[in-house]
Amino acid sequence: MTGGRPKKASWDRSKRNLDDQLAFDRNHLWHPYTSMSDPLPVYPVQAADGVQLQLADGRWLIDGMSSWWTAIHGYNHPVLNAAAADQIAKMPHVMFGGITHEPAIELGRRLIDLLPAGLERIFYSDSGSVAVEVAIKMAFQYWLAQAEENRRRLLTIRSGYHGDTFMAMSVCDPVTGMHDLFGGMVTEQVFAPQPRTRFDADWDPQDVVPLAELVARHHHELAAIILEPIVQAAGGMWFYHPQYLAQARALCDEYGLLLICDEIATGFGRTGKMFACEHAGVTPDIICIGKALTGGFMSLGATVTSACIAATISSAANTGGLFMHGPTFMANPLACAVAVASIDLLSASPWPEQVQGIATALRAGLAPCTTIDGVNDVRVLGSIGVVEMEKAVDMAEVQRMFVAEGVWVRPFGQLIYVMPPYVISAEQLETLTGAIVAVVKKCSAGVG
Ligand code: PMP
Repeated sequence: MTGGRPKKASWDRSKRNLDDQLAFDRNHLWHPYTSMSDPLPVYPVQAADGVQLQLADGRWLIDGMSSWWTAIHGYNHPVLNAAAADQIAKMPHVMFGGITHEPAIELGRRLIDLLPAGLERIFYSDSGSVAVEVAIKMAFQYWLAQAEENRRRLLTIRSGYHGDTFMAMSVCDPVTGMHDLFGGMVTEQVFAPQPRTRFDADWDPQDVVPLAELVARHHHELAAIILEPIVQAAGGMWFYHPQYLAQARALCDEYGLLLICDEIATGFGRTGKMFACEHAGVTPDIICIGKALTGGFMSLGATVTSACIAATISSAANTGGLFMHGPTFMANPLACAVAVASIDLLSASPWPEQVQGIATALRAGLAPCTTIDGVNDVRVLGSIGVVEMEKAVDMAEVQRMFVAEGVWVRPFGQLIYVMPPYVISAEQLETLTGAIVAVVKKCSAGVG
C-alpha cells in the first residue's frame, strides 16, 4: 500500500533547470563522506513511492537500501503521511523542557511493550549518533553516581560503527569505522578483535577468549561494553554468532559492567527478530534505537535503560540526580507521532514472514555470486544481503551500473549490500538480486 504516486514531478518547483540545480549542489552542498572539490556524482531524486525512487528524468529505481535501514514500510506510506499531517496541524514541535505531549507518551508506551522486558526509562534524542552519546553518558553517570570515578573507558569490538559524533567515533573501528583520521583526537577505548564465528556456524568458544581477557585486564577502568548486537553494519556488514553476545552479557554480569547494545541499524525487525539481541536471548542494560523508528520518515533516536540504572543516576549527590543531556528537538512531537504510526503499522503487519521471505529470496537470488571470481563471501541474515568482494569496487562506476539496471544499491569499499523495505515484492526482489549478479559479474571482469 502506498500513498499513490505523486501526480506531478516536484523537481521543477524552483523553475530552475536541472543542470543549474546540480551545479549548485556540486559547488555548495556537502554529501556524506565526500570531497567538496571532487565529489562523487549524485543522482537527482524527485519522488519516492512504495519500494521505488524516481529520478528527475522520470525513471523509477527499485530501492535496495531503505534509505540506510530506515524505510521499512516503503516510501510515501499513507498511514505515516496521515500521522504526520495530523500532527503538523496540531503541533509539529514544542520544547520538552517543562512540557510533555501525547506523541512522546504514546511512543514511550509502545517502546516499553516492544523492547526486551526491563528496558523502561526512555531518553529521546534527534539522531542515532546522539542516542549513542546519551547511552555512553548514562553509563558514565551511572558509575559517577556510585563514586567510581575511574570508570571512564569503554570496551568494544573491532569492525563496529556507532556514528559520527566524537564519543561515538571513539568506539567505531579505528580502521574500517570511517574515522581513522581522528586517531589520537578521540578517547582511546579498549578494542577486542571482531567476533569471527558466523551467525549460522557452530559456535567456537575460542572466539570470545580475547574479549574475556580484555574484560579481566581492564574491568576496573571500564564503564561498559558497547557493541552492535549480531549485525555489524557500516563497519563491515558482518553477522556474528549469538553465543558471542550471550557471553558478552555473561562477562558484564560477572564483572559488574554495563552492556550497551546499539540497535540503531538492527532494530524493528531487520534481522528477523524485533531486536537483534533477541537472537541471543540477551537484554542489554542500555539500548540505542533510531533509523527505522519513524519508518524512515524523519530523524529520531531513543536511548532506553532499566529502572535500576535510571534510579542510580537519579540518586547521585554530585549531579543532584540530574541526567545531563537535553537536546533542543528532544521528543519532537512530529517525529514521535510518526514513530507511533510506524510501530503500529509494523505490529499489525506480517513482518516476520516478510523478512523471512526476503531472506529466502536473497539467498536464492545472490547464490550465483558465490561462484564469480573476485567474490570473497556472500551472506544473508533476515532482510540483509551482502556480497563481499575481494577488492574495493569503484563506487561511482558501480553506482552507475546499478542505476542502468534500474535499481538503487550503494556499495562501500568491498561491500555490495542491500536491505530493502519489508514490503518489496517477489518480482522486485528478483530484479534487485539479478542486478547485483549482473554488476558483480562486470566487476569480476574488471569493469567496476
Ligand atoms: N549506530 C549504528 C549501528 C549505525 O548504523 C548508525 C548510522 N549508520 C549510527 C549509530 C548513527 O546514526 P545517525 O546516522 O542517525 O547519527
